[in-house]
Amino acid sequence: NVRVRFAPSPTGPLHIGGVRTALFNYLFAKKNNGTFILRIEDTDQTRYVANAEQYIIDALNWCNIPFDEGPNKNEKFGPYRQSERKEIYKKYAEELIAKGKAYYAFDTAEELDFHREDHEKKGKTFIYNWHNRSKLTNSISLSKEEVEQRIANGEKYVVRFKMYKPEIEGEKETITSNDLIRGEVTFKREILDDKILFKSDGMPTYHLANIVDDHLMEITHVIRGEEWLPSVPLHIALYEAFGWKAPEFAHLPLILKPIGKGKLSKRDGDKLGFPVFPLEYKNEETNEISRGYKEDGYFADAFINMLALLGWNPGTEQEIFTLQQLSEVFTLERVSKSGAKFSPDKTKWFNQQYMMQKSDDDLADLYADILKEKGIIKDKSYITKVVSQIKERATFVNDFWDLSDYFFQTPNVYDEKAVAKNWKQETPELMQTLISILESIEDFNSLTIETTVKEWITNKEIGFGKVMQPFRLSLVGAMKGPHLFDIAEMIGKQETIARLEKTIK
Ligand code: GLU
Repeated sequence: NVRVRFAPSPTGPLHIGGVRTALFNYLFAKKNNGTFILRIEDTDQTRYVANAEQYIIDALNWCNIPFDEGPNKNEKFGPYRQSERKEIYKKYAEELIAKGKAYYAFDTAEELDFHREDHEKKGKTFIYNWHNRSKLTNSISLSKEEVEQRIANGEKYVVRFKMYKPEIEGEKETITSNDLIRGEVTFKREILDDKILFKSDGMPTYHLANIVDDHLMEITHVIRGEEWLPSVPLHIALYEAFGWKAPEFAHLPLILKPIGKGKLSKRDGDKLGFPVFPLEYKNEETNEISRGYKEDGYFADAFINMLALLGWNPGTEQEIFTLQQLSEVFTLERVSKSGAKFSPDKTKWFNQQYMMQKSDDDLADLYADILKEKGIIKDKSYITKVVSQIKERATFVNDFWDLSDYFFQTPNVYDEKAVAKNWKQETPELMQTLISILESIEDFNSLTIETTVKEWITNKEIGFGKVMQPFRLSLVGAMKGPHLFDIAEMIGKQETIARLEKTIK
């Protein structure tokens, strides 16, 4: 029974790397009829951001990748917020101490700084581990009585993991992980440090809480970003120390900047003008607002489709996948080892593809909201028709207004260059005649208008451009838009004539 988790720390908004981790976990769970869990890793109270948890949940919901278990939902293995599980971790830290696999350390920040500097002077790096454990201030170097005394005195301490114990006969010198994406990765135990598991503020560190919870929540696969790969040996060593079976690990490749080298950051988005967060985020401290895909007008399904292909490929040329299709074809074997370059242009392309696939009816609902904000209320059927005329040229629903404002209001400005080129001396007279011809049309539909107007132009040998260009300018305000007679039919006889009259006045 596959159980996976997305375990963000609520230290700020979820960026696209985080959403991708959530998505791949979700897809893996769905593919394997498993369970997708949300766990909030909020043990680092110094970095806690109040509204971040809600942001994460809202973002997952917008992306349409809901969790099966998590805070306030199906709490079988709850609570799912680590700050509510403090007592659990304490017990496990003590268990490791009792087993001789962890120890108390009392070294102050000043002492540790001193050791660091001292090592630096000798051209070495200070690592708190088996080399110097017995020379530092901890329950290995001190007597049992002294340790008890210090704790009783309320002295600050941390609990450190005994990473490498050369004194133990037969302890393996290396730790190997068979990562489902990266393959076999081996780490040397002796160069690793004795990581802190538990702090004197009564809180565990990420490492302890993470593996205790993965064990208790019966997580079968840990799928997370590549930045966590260096933590794998410690995690495996911790599972061994507790005598637990470790889950499978799969480390996802980095998401790289569109230009240049390195990891995609919020700054790249700010600088190059694309969002890196699913939803808009307001930093409560600085009041700074960061852009979101949702607010920028991306469709959630297009965003998710783009994200799925950042580091995963189906092995075919196919690029457009619904979430349902993705959860049928997704496998970790097809996740690449190397970084995936993010492309803002490709992201827009996806949105456009989805735009074409959406029904005019659905798009009309979205457009109706934008129109309402402008104080324009129109029949749904009218808006739907407008949408069908323009959607091919739009990337976002937010583009609709610029492409179709003339369907809803009389132009106020006329493109100057087009006027200079197409508005001639004889134009007002021609437009006046056009008005009387239009007035005579009973059934004001596109085809009839077209036939009638063209007949007049041909009979009088006027030249199409001389009529059609100023006609378009009068109705649209610029030389753009779909078939002109369709526009005339849509806005109606009265409005068509009114617009012509306005321009010849
Ligand atoms: N809390 C960690 C994070 O913020 C979780 C890493 C993991 O999945 O183990 O990414």
